Amino acid sequence: MASKRDYYEVLGVDKNATDEEIKKAYRKLAKKYHPDANPDNKAEAEAKFKEVNEAYETLSDSQKRKMYDQFGADGPQGFGGAGGPFGNGTYTYSTGFDGFSDFGDLGDIFSSFFGGGFGGSSRSRQNGPKKGNDLRYDLEISFEESFLGTERYVTLNRRETCQTCHGEGSKLGTHPETCSVCHGTGQIKQVQTTILGQMQTMRTCTNCRGTGKVIKEPCETCKGKGTVRNQVRLTVKVPAGVDDNQTIVLREEGEPGENGGSKGDLYITVHVKRHSIYSRKGNNVLCDIPITFTQATLGADLRIPMVDGTEETYRIPDATQTGTKFVIRNKGFKSLSGSGQGDFVFTVQVQVPKKLTSEQRNLLMQLAKTMNEQPPVKKKGLFG
Ligand SMILES: [Zn+2]
Ligand SMILES: [Zn+2]
Repeated sequence: MASKRDYYEVLGVDKNATDEEIKKAYRKLAKKYHPDANPDNKAEAEAKFKEVNEAYETLSDSQKRKMYDQFGADGPQGFGGAGGPFGNGTYTYSTGFDGFSDFGDLGDIFSSFFGGGFGGSSRSRQNGPKKGNDLRYDLEISFEESFLGTERYVTLNRRETCQTCHGEGSKLGTHPETCSVCHGTGQIKQVQTTILGQMQTMRTCTNCRGTGKVIKEPCETCKGKGTVRNQVRLTVKVPAGVDDNQTIVLREEGEPGENGGSKGDLYITVHVKRHSIYSRKGNNVLCDIPITFTQATLGADLRIPMVDGTEETYRIPDATQTGTKFVIRNKGFKSLSGSGQGDFVFTVQVQVPKKLTSEQRNLLMQLAKTMNEQPPVKKKGLFG
């Protein structure tokens, strides 16, 4: 077994620390390492969080602390086994990918840890508040909508709190009863005799499946589940400037939480359809503008179609080469952060006329002669 850090060291307290000091140190560290408070390095925070919990579980219980002082961590663990009181404790935290929102639940998590002795804390962790499931939705919008912003309705199927029983799961006029087997704790205490003396282990109550409550007469609407599936229509505000694959979060539009936990969130991933003319790079709009070779040669005032449907006049100089880029400032995407706007960048593409009248052809041939060019092949061609 890998040697573990000393529990006192983990909590940063003295060997003679009082219960109050241990509690204080634990509160501080648990808050610091709570995985939801460390979204950037969750795995590392989780490991620390576990370590801190484990240390606290032992040092906060005078009997276990005494044993630990005498035998160290490996001693009792070797006898107790993983399921024993010295095994890794279970703990609750949301695994939703933006768990920060239920940072507010930390108080409940603390109260569950501080809910009393070992048995007490396990119980509240089992049936403590649980955040509801997060939901995902894919929303396809047009390029113009991403440019201008839009408001869209989304229809989705989700679990909602049953309105008949208000989530309790019991028939109208009745309420769930406290489980008579575990007296509402959700856990059954078992005493094992080991060489080290009697040790307590906790098992989930099978009568109430750990909830601490028993529904005698289930609600007819939800069949006792407390939730029903509903189709809901929500309005989603899509901000101007949103890019492909960006996510809009609608807080508390996910599924209902349990035991007073907050609702989950709805994550809407935006998919922007490709446009036939425009594309996007950063906050810039890119597009190709075809021009004639006379426009390119002589210069011209071009009318450029903007994404919002308006037109901008832009003067290109004479002798403009094909592939030249021009920039119209601040006509690109609005920045989502609220300040600044991208540019409209267009690339001119010189088009060669596909059809000429004989007059045009003659004019061009005269032009070619003045430029000392080889005259073009006659229209009928060599094989005509
Ligand atoms: Zn119901
Ligand atoms: Zn029970």
